[in-house]
Amino acid sequence: MFAFLTTCVFMYDIVADCSDNVPTRYLVNDACVLSGKPLVSASALRMEGQLTVYNYNGGPCYRCLYPVPPPPETVTNCSDGGVLGVVVGVMGCLQALEVLKIASGQKSSFGQQLLMFDAQDSRFRCIKLRAKQAGCVVCGETPTVTELQDYESFCGSAATDKCRRLNLLSAEQRVSVQEYKSIVDCGTPHLLLDVRPKVEVDICHLPVSIKIPLASLEDQNADHINFLKEKISELKLQMSSELQVPVYVVCKLGNDSQKAVQLLEKMSGTELERITVKDIIGGLMAWANKIDPSFPKY
Ligand SMILES: [Zn+2]
Repeated sequence: MFAFLTTCVFMYDIVADCSDNVPTRYLVNDACVLSGKPLVSASALRMEGQLTVYNYNGGPCYRCLYPVPPPPETVTNCSDGGVLGVVVGVMGCLQALEVLKIASGQKSSFGQQLLMFDAQDSRFRCIKLRAKQAGCVVCGETPTVTELQDYESFCGSAATDKCRRLNLLSAEQRVSVQEYKSIVDCGTPHLLLDVRPKVEVDICHLPVSIKIPLASLEDQNADHINFLKEKISELKLQMSSELQVPVYVVCKLGNDSQKAVQLLEKMSGTELERITVKDIIGGLMAWANKIDPSFPKY
């Protein structure tokens, strides 16, 4: 596939990166540097867009700016974060404009500049990027990347944002939707914590769930933490035993819920009473696919 991509890039004079994930960005960047082609790159997330031209007119490449891939769990993609279609349209038109300018022999405005579009405030800003780096592993003075590599293993994530799956927990810290269903069917006392943002909870949720967004756990929101404390205490009284309260965490796809499990484990025995926390693998979309076909998919 990589040889095929390098061959493809050689067939064209300008490359436009419209991809939606980190491994593909590194792959396309390296292919452009190795074949000496300018890379017109645009991206959009939620209400914001960015545009720049890499490897152009002595300017930096993507690796000059981002020599190390970000940890996969810190990357918000469009599947999880959402994006407004109009923002993508605006960025796509600007990207096409830069391609046409370069193709017709006019200069691009974004050789070492980053255009940032804030759709919420309807504002454009332009910032100067750092220069091409002599130590860059692909476009620097002594490059060590001289052919395309395995970008999925380099970045630690799949080259897609459609089925991104984080793997932050051990098998003991997770249950399948089938296992969770049997816990519900047996009437085993537990808490179900839904950590999606309110806007998603309003679309659909499981009736027994309590709702605290992941962001509130990350920010240690006092109201939400106290609410969780109360729910744990109530259940502890009902359980009338010395067992730890079991908490199952769910989100849309099973990524944010893993982050929440890690946070809650840190809080167990300190900010919170001791609890047993587990993630529900695949989240509510797995529930909709495997347990309850009538549950809304979004
Ligand atoms: Zn570079």
